This record gives sequence, structure tokens and C-alpha cells, in this order.
Amino acid sequence: MPVASGSSVDKVTPETLAERIRALSEEFALTLKGNLEEMRSVWASIQTDTSSLASAPNFVRMHEIAHSLAGAGKSLGFPRVSQAAAPLDSLFRLLREKQSPLTEEEVDQINLLITDLELAIDIPGEQVRLDIIHPHVEESPDQNSVFHTLLFADLSENGDAITLLKDVGFETTAVTGGSPPERVSRGEPAVLLSPLASVAEARGWLTQCGLEHDVPVVAVGERGTFHERLDSVRQGAADFLFLPLDREDVFSRLSAIEERLMAPPIRVVIAEDDQTLAEFYKLTLEHAGMEAKIVREPETILNELAGTAADIILMDLYLGSCTGLELAQIVRQFSAYTTVPILFLSTESRITLQLEARHLGADDFLVKPLKPAQLVSAVMSRAQRYRDLKKLTDRDSLTGLLNHTNILRSLDREISSAARTETHVVMAMVDIDHFKKVNDTYGHAVGDQVLLRVTHLIRNRLRRTDLVGRYGGEEFAVVMPNTTLETATAILEELREACAEIDHNTDQGSFKITFSAGAADFPNIETGNELAQAADECLYEAKRTGRNKVVTVQNRASA
Ligand code: GH3
Ligand code: MG
Ligand code: MG
Ligand code: MG
Repeated sequence: MPVASGSSVDKVTPETLAERIRALSEEFALTLKGNLEEMRSVWASIQTDTSSLASAPNFVRMHEIAHSLAGAGKSLGFPRVSQAAAPLDSLFRLLREKQSPLTEEEVDQINLLITDLELAIDIPGEQVRLDIIHPHVEESPDQNSVFHTLLFADLSENGDAITLLKDVGFETTAVTGGSPPERVSRGEPAVLLSPLASVAEARGWLTQCGLEHDVPVVAVGERGTFHERLDSVRQGAADFLFLPLDREDVFSRLSAIEERLMAPPIRVVIAEDDQTLAEFYKLTLEHAGMEAKIVREPETILNELAGTAADIILMDLYLGSCTGLELAQIVRQFSAYTTVPILFLSTESRITLQLEARHLGADDFLVKPLKPAQLVSAVMSRAQRYRDLKKLTDRDSLTGLLNHTNILRSLDREISSAARTETHVVMAMVDIDHFKKVNDTYGHAVGDQVLLRVTHLIRNRLRRTDLVGRYGGEEFAVVMPNTTLETATAILEELREACAEIDHNTDQGSFKITFSAGAADFPNIETGNELAQAADECLYEAKRTGRNKVVTVQNRASA
């Protein structure tokens, strides 16, 4: 391609680069029709001989065409072509690896995807955006990333608001005009608080910074009336607060946003015996940011579910050794999985069968062949809804942390997963020292605020993969997967020091609090119950020997 090359001494200014790309884009547009025609004819000859193996030159050619369209389209102003070609690219790559004749389902799927691609090449190209050609490389989310609260326009000068936000423990920065904090540009989660009147301006600023899809805007009104709320919704704000800011309101609304932004990816278990289709679903879902695991043999599904907090199960109707309906009934026999959504994939559109399936525990039906976008949206919406509902039942209402039952359930799940991957899990108990005195001196409401503040500290300082529960009144349980006791001890010590530094301000003056912690680890100790008990004994030891310290099964033994 002569347009793209250039001797290395040529200076590539943004202008010349843009010109070259424009020329490439025009060239690409001209070849689209020809590529599609070739694809159609190669596909036709593949179908005349369905016994042909996927290693045949025809398959190689199909894959090449799909691959180049998927790769170049986006950079050259045809994002829809890229999008439509990507699933064909993955599917043919898998078929080439699999090397067996096509199944009927795969043929249907390919026909559907080619039709999609044909529609996509008729959509006129867009002006090439240079920032798409050089996408900023998204780093894998940092385990230690912090949630940022950004203040826009008048709010950035509102001293009361700033004090309150910092007091509740949010990392708070004024951003008017200028550029966002570097850590936010690098992908750390953030929310932008803007006065209601400036929401449009705030969103414009985010667009300029390229953060419009990453940072939600919360509108801040003057009175909290219905009209203000309606105005904020119409301007596309993600949530609404009003002045003067209320501590608890701010904490709960912003924590909910923080949690959504920091939530681990949606986890999908795919029960499907056709390996190519299963891989295709997996790639499609992963492409949309979800995590997916494949179960090909029905008898392994319970094992797979035990080590995954699945948000949804995708199930094929026919799975070889049993049917999907039978498997769904087995899954529903376990109380931990009675409510996880099960979504059936089937070529079967008979309504009676669908009704029967619903009766037996299926939540919905998707009819194959499936377009990737349909699959993603069906899975995403149901899984998200499931998470939202689960939050209401699994969480403590004051702190939003996992409740006693569910933190223990999580511990068991992490142990089962660690046993398979041969990694460590640490269980820690954290209990506030002399908390009764706080209540007695400052009142129960201040006590609640302290609990919120400590909750926030723990959640913010721990890694995203760590699980935090409210074990009892002023006692927290922390589960740290893939962590050795040494590392966990260091983390807990840091947390302990940070906690002891926080000033808790009240009308009757300010005070500080400390906590004591006990910790034990798997596989040193083998079951969830024993781990919890060992951590509790260490905690008792910490209390007995002076409080404000971390005792573990290790340093206790060596002491
Ligand atoms: P120690 O250092 O031995 O742990 O002393 P302590 O005072 O923290 O422990 P103790 O178990 O004697 O008292 C715990 C107190 O925590 C008693 C209870 O009123 C208070 N508490 C429990 N849950 C809540 C809550 O949700 N809000 C408030 N404000 N207080 C709570
Ligand atoms: Mg099947
Ligand atoms: Mg206590
Ligand atoms: Mg206690």
C-alpha cells in the first residue's frame, strides 16, 4: 500500500497522516463490495460440500476476508463494518481450529452474520478520527484504584460541600475548565458533581476530555423539587442531590455509583455442548466486558457454579447426556442458585416447550441463531437486574456491605476456587475498639456515622477483589482471595493506621477511634467455619493484649 509507506526521514505531521488515512479510507470503501461478493461465493462453495473440513482453503479465505474487514474497518471510518465482521472473524478462527464439519447451527449463524455484514457495508463511511487510530491503551483496572469525586463550576468553590465530601472519605478535586486529575484520565473511577444549571456544560467538558462514557454526572439542585429532578433526568444526569448536601444522602448515592463503577465484570456460565458456538458466545460476551466460563459436560456444572458467583447461566436446550430443562431443575435444587437467571438458547421456537421450560426454572428464551448484539443485551440486562435485586437481600442496610450469611457464603466460594487454583485465601475479622463509648458519649447517630466512615475506609483501601461484610454490629469480616497471610497482614496494618488517623467531627468536638483485627488463612486452615473461628480467636487475642493491633495465626504462634 504505497499511501501508507513513507521513508523514515519524512516527517509525519498530523495533517499528512490525516491525508494518508483519508486516501486509505477511500480505497477501503472501493474494495468493500468486491470483498463481500467474494465472501458470498466462497461461502456458497463451502456449503455445496458440507463435509469439507475447516482446514480447507475456502475456510482460510473466509477467515482472511472477515479478519481484514474487522481489523481495518474501524480505523478507516467504517466502524459498523468492523463490528459486523468481528463475530465472523472469531467464528471462522474457531472453525479452523476445530477442523470438523459444520453443524446446522453454525451454518445458520454464519448466514445471519453475512447478511448483517452486507447491511453494514451500505452505511456510508465516517470522517476518520485520528484518536481512534491511536486509541489510548486502556490499562487493566488497577487493583488499588481509588474513587474520585470531581466538583464542577460553582460547586468547586462551595466550602461546605468540599468539607462534607472529604469528611465522608471521598477523594475530592475541583475541576473547572482545565484537565481532569491524571489518575482519572488513566481510568480510575470518578463521578462529576455539577450544579443543575451547568449539567450540559459539565457533560460537554467530559466529552472534550474523552470521558463522557466513563464518568457519570450527578446534578446538584437547590431544593430537591420534582421539577429539579425532572430537569436533571432530561439533561442526562445519572443521579441527583440537593443543597445543603446531606451526609447520609451523599454517602449512599455516591457509594452506589462507586460500587457500580468498581463492580467486577458480569459473570456468565455457558452450558453448551457445541464447542464452536460456546466459544463464539464466550468471545462475544468477553468483547462486551463480561467474564464467561464454558461448561460442556452437564455433570460439571455444579462444580463450575461453586467456584463462580455467576450472575446468569446461558443454557443450550440439548446438551448430549441430558437436556437443558433437566439440568436447570438440578441447578434449582441448590438454595444458592434458586434465583440466578437461566437463559435458554434454542433453535426451538415452539411456545408450548417454552412455557414448559419456564415452569421448570428457565427465565427466558433466546432463539438461535443469535446476533452478537442481541446476545450481549439480553445477557447484560438480566444479569444487571439480578445483581440489583440481590443487593437488596444480600446486603446490610446501613453499610451496604454483605451481611453475615453472605460473607460466609463468599468465603466458602473463594475457598473452593482457591483449592482448585492452589492459591491462598485470608479471612480477617475487624472489630472497632471501645465502640460502646462512642455511642454513650456522642449518641447512636454519631456511632452510625463512624460505622459508615470505617466501611468506606475499608472498601476504599482494599482491592477490588476483596470482599467485605458486616459480620456483627461493629465487627467487619474481610475475605481476601489470592493473598498470603503476610500480604494480608501488611494490608491490615496499613488500614489500622489509616483508621486511627481519621478525625470524626461532631458538635461535641472531634475524636478518633481504633480497631483490632484477627486473621487466618487457607490452606493453612481448611474450612470456612474453622477459618472464621480462627480469625475470631486471633481478634479476641488482640483485644485481650491491648487492642489497636493485628493478630494472626502466624504472629500469634510465634509470639
Ligand atoms: P471492644 O473494644 O471490646 O470491642 O469494646 P466495644 O465497646 O467496641 O464492644 P462491645 O461488644 O461491648 O460493644 C459494641 C457496641 O456496638 C454495642 C452496640 O450498642 C454498638 N453497636 C452495634 N451495632 C451498632 C450500630 O449499628 N450502630 C451503632 N451506633 N452502634 C452499634
Ligand atoms: Mg447442543
Ligand atoms: Mg468493639
Ligand atoms: Mg464487637
